[in-house]
Amino acid sequence: MNDRGVSALAAAFDRRAAGSASRFGGSRAVDAARPPAPPNEVELIGRPTPQRTEVLQALAGCEEFISAQLLHAGLLAAGSRVGLSTVYRTLTALAAAVRADVVRDVNGERLFRYRPDTDHRHYLICRRCGLSVPVDSGPVEAWADEIARTSGFAQVQHTVELAGTCVGCVAADAGS
Ligand SMILES: [Zn+2]
Ligand SMILES: [Zn+2]
Repeated sequence: MNDRGVSALAAAFDRRAAGSASRFGGSRAVDAARPPAPPNEVELIGRPTPQRTEVLQALAGCEEFISAQLLHAGLLAAGSRVGLSTVYRTLTALAAAVRADVVRDVNGERLFRYRPDTDHRHYLICRRCGLSVPVDSGPVEAWADEIARTSGFAQVQHTVELAGTCVGCVAADAGS
């Protein structure tokens, strides 16, 4: 067996160990070469630990929304020993600290994307391929701010998700 065969086997083993072999899409793999998140960000979600930092950096390296399982599989493939439950907890804490955007895929699974600044964004997501595009949310923000101001509630947050079929997927459908 040549080197490529061996590494493919090792990658397959990592995916199987993570319990997500069938969900692992090549285009969503964690790319360790992208710039890391600022190191202090992990303190936003509690005591900084090497494993939380690994999860944060891996999420920051993903351009697309990613599930906890897929991120975990990518970390394992890159040699990390972080546990899936730590990945889940860290991603949930990042979302609560407004450092990750969260959407749900067609199966209801939560997908996460690192948010590099405190600006809060909304996305239009393709149900077929997972493409996500930031959208202008001015009217939604104005409405949410107004409700927060007049309701007497503290720390009002909102979740707005828009889903559809992207141009590329519509074209692929038309061509088939
Ligand atoms: Zn699409
Ligand atoms: Zn908003």
